[in-house]
Amino acid sequence: MGFPLTTQGYVEYLKRAHKKIHENGEYITALDAATGDGDHWTNMNSGFGKLVEISDQLSPLSLSDAFKKIGMTMMSVIGGSSGALYGSAYIEAAKKVAGKDALDSEGLCEVLEAMLAGVMNRGKSEPGFKTMIDALYPAARLYRELLTQGADEMEILAAVKRAAISGAESTKDMEAVKGRAYYQGNKGVGHIDPGAVTMAYQIEVLMDYIANLEA
Ligand code: ADP
Ligand code: MG
Repeated sequence: MGFPLTTQGYVEYLKRAHKKIHENGEYITALDAATGDGDHWTNMNSGFGKLVEISDQLSPLSLSDAFKKIGMTMMSVIGGSSGALYGSAYIEAAKKVAGKDALDSEGLCEVLEAMLAGVMNRGKSEPGFKTMIDALYPAARLYRELLTQGADEMEILAAVKRAAISGAESTKDMEAVKGRAYYQGNKGVGHIDPGAVTMAYQIEVLMDYIANLEA
């Protein structure tokens, strides 16, 4: 059970992430219609759909090259703010995994941290701004904290997943500092940020996927 996570494993995760995003179209579109321009689900669904389409090209690549290609694809297919942000996340992650064949738990934590740095730099944003960062930041932070404490691998995966989901939910009461919700009269207060939810979906699916990997 659990690690290591190879490129082939990551590609399998992408298929599951696409399924999760695909299934939640109405919900995500409604969230983005409330605080943005309503296109977030369409953007993400197309992006992940494209990744699934090119999965045979991704699978034979090194982790680093696969992350680079994923980033470039997301940047061009997703479009909008989130395309650029995911592009930066994966480019940062690609640098971090250079030379690695597979990820262990420490490696995965580093990937989440690199993605977080990529999004924060590119978006010029921080936790609490009512964005996707509010799902990714608590997940990455808790991952590091639990690794440092020497927590059980399976426990970490479950806890990180919960942190991402509750982080996304916590955006409901936040006033937006970045993104389209900032331009709303009430800065989106009372509405969950769609980008935080799709980020949480990805983290949830990834943690579940790894937890159920056969050794
Ligand atoms: P757009 O806002 O260009 O229409 P999307 O609808 O695809 O792009 O994505 C919107 C999501 O992107 C938001 O819900 C938010 O989570 C995230 N987002 C927007 N701007 C930023 C930013 N500067 N930093 C981090 N995340 C952001
Ligand atoms: Mg939008």
